[in-house]
Amino acid sequence: MIVILKPNTDRNSDEYRQLMNTLENLPNIKVRLHEEVGTQQTLTELYLVGDTAALTLEEIQNLPTVERVVRISQEYRVLGRHKDESRPTHFEYNGVRFGQDNLNVFAGLCAVDNPEHVEIMMRALQEHGQLCTRMGAYKPRTNPYSFQGHGKDCLPYVFELAGKYGIKVIAMEITHEQHIVEIQDALKSTGDPTGVLLQIGTRNTQNFELLKAVGRQKQFPVLIKRGFGITLEESLNAAEYLASEGNRNVIFALRGMKTNMGDPHRNFVDFSHVPVVKRLTRMPVCIDPSHSVGSREQAPDGLLDVMHVTAQGVIAGANMVLADFHPVPEKALVDGPQALLLKELPYFLEDIRIAREAYEKRVALAKDFHQKK
Ligand code: PEP
Ligand code: MN
Repeated sequence: MIVILKPNTDRNSDEYRQLMNTLENLPNIKVRLHEEVGTQQTLTELYLVGDTAALTLEEIQNLPTVERVVRISQEYRVLGRHKDESRPTHFEYNGVRFGQDNLNVFAGLCAVDNPEHVEIMMRALQEHGQLCTRMGAYKPRTNPYSFQGHGKDCLPYVFELAGKYGIKVIAMEITHEQHIVEIQDALKSTGDPTGVLLQIGTRNTQNFELLKAVGRQKQFPVLIKRGFGITLEESLNAAEYLASEGNRNVIFALRGMKTNMGDPHRNFVDFSHVPVVKRLTRMPVCIDPSHSVGSREQAPDGLLDVMHVTAQGVIAGANMVLADFHPVPEKALVDGPQALLLKELPYFLEDIRIAREAYEKRVALAKDFHQKK
C-alpha cells in the first residue's frame, strides 16, 4: 500500500508524528519512506509493506496529512502503475525531460576512442539540435583481450567537450560502483559542464549489488538494459532494485534478446514490448536498435535494418533511442560494423521524426475511438 502525503508535508509537524505513530503501531507492517524533492514541491510517499490486506483504504485515507492511498500489487512496488494514473511517469534531469510521453535521441560513440572522434561526434550533434549523446568509457567485453574502454582517463575530455557543444546528458555504462565516484570526480574537476545518465548493461541487469549501489545515489538517473537471456519480469524486477534503494529516475531499455531465432540480426528485436513496459510500469522506455540489429544491413527499400527497427519502436511509443554512430566506423575500437555514419545523422533523425509523428497520430486516433464509445 502506498500512502501519498499532502505536498510539502512538514516532517516535524504534530500531524505527521501522529500519522507515523499510528502506522508504526500497525501489526506486522513496516513503513518505508520515499521522498521526492522537486523544484516546486516535496512529495512524500510512505510504503506500507507486510500484512496490508487487513487494512481498508478508508481507515488510512482518514489519517492526518494523507492525500491519497493506493493499494499495490506485489510487483514493481515503486515503479509499477498499480492502476493509478496520477503518479508521475516522467522526471527532469539537467534540463532534459524524460517521460512516457516524449522522446529523446542519444546518438553517439559505443566506445570513446580519442578526443578527436568525440569532438567530431559532439559537433555534429549540436549542428542537428541534439542535447544528448552516448559515450562508452567502461566497456564490458566478451573477450578479456578486447579493448576494455579508456575508463576514467577519458572522462575529463569527454565532459569538457560535452560542455563545449551544449550536450546536457551523456548515457554512460558503468560496470562497478567505483565508476560512480570516478564520474563524480571528473564532473567536479571539469566544473560540471554536462550531466550523466548511468547505464546498466545487459550483462549486469541482475548484478544486484551494483543495482543497489546505483540505486542508493540520487545524483544521476539510470538507464537499465533488459537482460538478454532472462524474462521481462526478471528485468523489471531488476529495475525495481534501483527504485527500492531510493532512485526512481529510471529508464528501461530494450536491446534485443539472445537467441538464434533472431538471426541474421545480432539479437532478436523485442521492441513490441515497448507498450507492455509502459503499461506495467511508469518508466520511460528506451530502444537500442544498434545492439539489437548489430549490422549495417539494408533492406531492398533502401532503409537500413537499424532504421527499420528504430521506426518500429518509435511508432509503438518509445521514449528514447540509443544508437551507435562513429565518424570512421572502420577505425572504431568497439562495434564499428553496426555504427551509423555521421552523414546519416540528419537522415536518421528525420526518419525518427516521421515515426514519432505517426505514433502521435495513432494516439489521437485511439483517443477519438474511446471518446465515441
Ligand atoms: C552498449 O550499449 O554499449 C552495450 C554494451 O549494450 P548492451 O549492454 O545492451 O550489450
Ligand atoms: Mn556497443
